[in-house]
Amino acid sequence: MEETPNDIKIKLALTLEEMYFGVTKKVTYQKRDICTSCRGRNKCSHCRGRKIALKETITELEIPSGIAEGMELTKADAGHVFYKNNVKSLFRFFKQKASYGKLRIEFEEIKHPIYSRMAYHLILPYELRKEIISKKDIVIEVPCMSNRMLKVRIPQNTPNGKIFRVNGKGFNNLIDGGLGDLLICIEVR
Ligand SMILES: [Zn+2]
Repeated sequence: MEETPNDIKIKLALTLEEMYFGVTKKVTYQKRDICTSCRGRNKCSHCRGRKIALKETITELEIPSGIAEGMELTKADAGHVFYKNNVKSLFRFFKQKASYGKLRIEFEEIKHPIYSRMAYHLILPYELRKEIISKKDIVIEVPCMSNRMLKVRIPQNTPNGKIFRVNGKGFNNLIDGGLGDLLICIEVR
C-alpha cells in the first residue's frame, strides 16, 4: 500500500487469544490536527500561529479474528491532517477541506505460555511418559483455544516428535477464508 507523509504508523501487541478470536481495542496516539484552541482560525498561543497542533487521539479498532504478527491493518482518515496545495494557496487555506492520512497498525504477538503459532496453525506441545505410551494406546485430553477439551487417541509406541492434527481448530485464514489446524506435537520423555 502506498505510504504518504501524513500516515501514522503504530505497533500493537496482541495476545494469541486476541488474535484467535478477534478483539476491539482502543489505541491512543499523537497526530497533527486542526488546532482545537483556535479551530485553525487564529494565531493562538497553543499552535503559535501554525493552526495545526499535535493532539492526543483515541480511536477504536476492530481487529479481525486471524490477524497475525507482521500483518498491517489500515484505518482511513485517522492519520495527520493536511491541506492539498496549501503552499500555493495559503490564502485560501481555510476554504479548503482538511484531509487526513491513514493510521497504519502493525501487529506483534505476545508470547503465550502454552501455545505457539505457525502460519494459521496452533501448535501445542504435549509431553508423554515413555513407560505409559509403550504399554498401550491412550486417549489424551487437550485444551483448544475456546477452552473446550478435545480427546485425541495416541497409539502405542508413538515416537517422539510425532504430530497429531485436529482439523479446523487453528486460526482463521484471512486470505482464503479457511481455518488452520491444531497441531499436537508429542514429546516422549
Ligand atoms: Zn491555534
